[in-house]
Amino acid sequence: MATDPDKARRDPVTPEPGPGPAPTGGAAAAGPGTRTSHDRPGPRSPAYPEPVDRLIQEMATLPGIGRRSAERLAFHILKSDEATAMRLARAITDVKKSVRHCRICSNLSDGELCGVCADDRRDRGLIMVVEQPKDLIALEQTGMYRGVYHVLMGRLSPLDGIGPGDLTVADLLRRLDDPSVNAGGTPVREVVLGLNPTVEGDGTALYLTQEIRRRGVKVSRLARGLPTGSQLEYANKAVLADAIEGRQAVD
Ligand SMILES: [Zn+2]
Repeated sequence: MATDPDKARRDPVTPEPGPGPAPTGGAAAAGPGTRTSHDRPGPRSPAYPEPVDRLIQEMATLPGIGRRSAERLAFHILKSDEATAMRLARAITDVKKSVRHCRICSNLSDGELCGVCADDRRDRGLIMVVEQPKDLIALEQTGMYRGVYHVLMGRLSPLDGIGPGDLTVADLLRRLDDPSVNAGGTPVREVVLGLNPTVEGDGTALYLTQEIRRRGVKVSRLARGLPTGSQLEYANKAVLADAIEGRQAVD
């Protein structure tokens, strides 16, 4: 990934989706730097000064950021005062230098253990499996869960060639097999699957269920169905089916 800017510099053609027809408004990158992609074959037509160009290229590597947004962000940084820009630069350096993954659950952490694993008030015999650290944050914000977590760092996706070996599955199973590697050396009695209700999330849940049951540990999963505040008539079939299947006794 670090080679991106160089690659972009070698390539005289803008690395945008379509150099030619540009379906919707692509050709309207009407900034001062607009140039037709078939200009001279020169090394790099100097649309922007090189550092600006490089910043745009780097911004464009971020998820969800196209060329136009990358330009906007780059110009925002150019316009902002030096202290603000440096704060951003420092936040990026710090996150790469000091943030790592928790030794036990793979959650983001600035130490060997994350805040959840290190907290002995948590129920360490109950593990919630989630796909990403951001899922963990969302669950923590409810304040409803007192167990610990395991972050898979993705989900199984055979079509993309992502198998159990690409995730932290082995670490999870080790926590079940050997309590001494779990937080506080606690034996695990239940695993809650908090995976996304998608085809891949369900496939991952199925795989994990088999592996966990084989170890004699109870498996449950988060309820699914109607979101609070929604209306039946607008819910799709899959959501309604889940809601019927996951109905609860009224007490
Ligand atoms: Zn942890």
